[in-house]
Amino acid sequence: MKSAQEKVLIYKALLTATTSLAQGNSPDEILKTACDALVSSSEHICLAWMYLGNPDNETISPSYSVGRQSEYTENLIIDRSPEAMKGPARRSLAMNKPILLDVKSDPTYGIWRKRAIQYGLQETLTLPIGSVEDTYRGLIVIFADISKYFEQIGIEAFVAFSQLASVALNQANLKIKLEEMASIDLTTKLLNRRALTEIIHREHAQTKRTENSFSLLLIDLDRFKLINDNYGHEMGDKILSGVSAILKDALRSCDWIGRWGGEEFLAVLPDSDEETAQTIAERLREEIDQFSIQLNGQKIKVTISIGISSHPQDGGTPDFLIRAADAALYEAKKTGRNRVVAAKEKHEIYSIASKINNAIENNRMVPAYQAIVDLQTRQTVAEEALARMIDETGKPIEAIEFISAATALQLTHLIDFQIIKQTIGRCAVNMATGGERIAHFVNLSGDLLLHQDVVHELFDEAKAACLNCAIDPNSTKPIVLEITERQLLGDMNAVKAKLAPFLDFGMRLAVDDFGSGYSSFQYLAELPVSFLKIEGSLIKQINDKRIRQIIKRINDIAKDLGLITIAEFVENADTADILCDIGIDWAQGYFFGRPVLSFPHG
Ligand code: GH3
Ligand code: MG
Ligand code: MG
Repeated sequence: MKSAQEKVLIYKALLTATTSLAQGNSPDEILKTACDALVSSSEHICLAWMYLGNPDNETISPSYSVGRQSEYTENLIIDRSPEAMKGPARRSLAMNKPILLDVKSDPTYGIWRKRAIQYGLQETLTLPIGSVEDTYRGLIVIFADISKYFEQIGIEAFVAFSQLASVALNQANLKIKLEEMASIDLTTKLLNRRALTEIIHREHAQTKRTENSFSLLLIDLDRFKLINDNYGHEMGDKILSGVSAILKDALRSCDWIGRWGGEEFLAVLPDSDEETAQTIAERLREEIDQFSIQLNGQKIKVTISIGISSHPQDGGTPDFLIRAADAALYEAKKTGRNRVVAAKEKHEIYSIASKINNAIENNRMVPAYQAIVDLQTRQTVAEEALARMIDETGKPIEAIEFISAATALQLTHLIDFQIIKQTIGRCAVNMATGGERIAHFVNLSGDLLLHQDVVHELFDEAKAACLNCAIDPNSTKPIVLEITERQLLGDMNAVKAKLAPFLDFGMRLAVDDFGSGYSSFQYLAELPVSFLKIEGSLIKQINDKRIRQIIKRINDIAKDLGLITIAEFVENADTADILCDIGIDWAQGYFFGRPVLSFPHG
């Protein structure tokens, strides 16, 4: 045999065969095509057989075999006996590696040797096909009729060919899985969230092996609520499907796109780094920007915002990648919409986020308590717990420096949990040691209400504390929850339902930063609020006559509703006196005391 010549022929034959691999529709067809191609690539390859199934099964046996000596595989059963486990088929599946061996001399071929020699088989190459993650995997076993055949021409071409068969098999497996999953969203005819999640996990597993990059685009329609409000939901749906079609067309054929939620889409871009993803995202944004729908002679325009994240630099796991894309999208919205933002521009956020996680894990997320005094008696009647992160050097960091990163990455519930839990503990100690009964104010984020598991854990803490302190279960509890309109956006009924268990438990509500926005009034109208905290920037301007009038009116409204009013940011005696004259009940600020950490750190 002239090995150089033979090598060229083999490469040519396998190259031609790769096209037909991709055309195989079912996993079975793909492996059959591969076997046929291998046998016809050289006259020295006298047999190829395949297996497709779950390698954990009791037996492995050929489902297709081709070549001059295909009779050899009749009745071939590879069971789980110790000899069979040592054989190349089981081993190559277990290690996910090709195995080359000499039929006559290799000890692991023991039980099959005699029959193989009868059929003139000299050397065998066993190739695993498919991914370890898949339950159904394939095996292709080929035999040469001369000794050292594979050794002479090298196994690289065969291995490369089997890798292409693996890719084809993966695609086919995925298609089957998606079909089984009822994977299509009816409005947009795109993949649904479940299907996308499956694809991201697969892409992640494959990328980990190949060390390539892949990217996610999280795409959200801008101000879509307005479109629904102005033109109706039906028109909204039409626009959604119009946008879907454009997005799909603008992507490459290897990309995946689906509906992630309401008016949010997610694209998975295989084999794409951040730069490629940026180009593609920008193209999508432009296409949609140019798109408008005609309705009664009117043109309706829509725009989209896109957040990009890329593996591995923006996140090591599918979960983190999605969070990163989400944070980038949030940034695109915040900075004006109709924009593309890549997660890498947000790396500062991630570095803060990792510090937050680290602090929480090491009990370095702690409350600092600021006194709240009665303006008449100047006695401390309550205190507010403010979050502080103690850094590695023992320095406390104020919430303002980490809370927006925490919000962007949806970590606030973890911070709230730490602070509220410790405040409950402090309250219990205070009661048990016969301290003055004061109210304990804590901040409650919308993010916490979204994590009911964490909420339940907090209730367990609170119940245990009440039991310890022998507090009447039906009494009003010392914990007051501060809510702001910035935090609890959304449907008032949903907010009410989520707050109900806290109120039933006997905790009270305070509206925080009243006067900084315009929907706090709705909170007053619809929620059983007990306290109203007036926005600190108003208090700071108390010497301005108009502002003073506003504060007076806010106080009047609060009094009519039977609420206790609290002024924040009180920094000097004059301010305290004016507020007292107006009739504000309580106050907090540097004049009365700075926030104090409950115990020293460092
Ligand atoms: P933003 O630019 O901040 O994304 O503003 P927005 O109004 O798009 O965002 P928001 O998330 O507040 O509202 C999303 C809206 O999308 C609310 C909902 O009525 C609408 N929506 C969600 N799913 C569908 C759907 O299947 N059909 C229609 N017509 N509208 C939907
Ligand atoms: Mg939107
Ligand atoms: Mg949205």
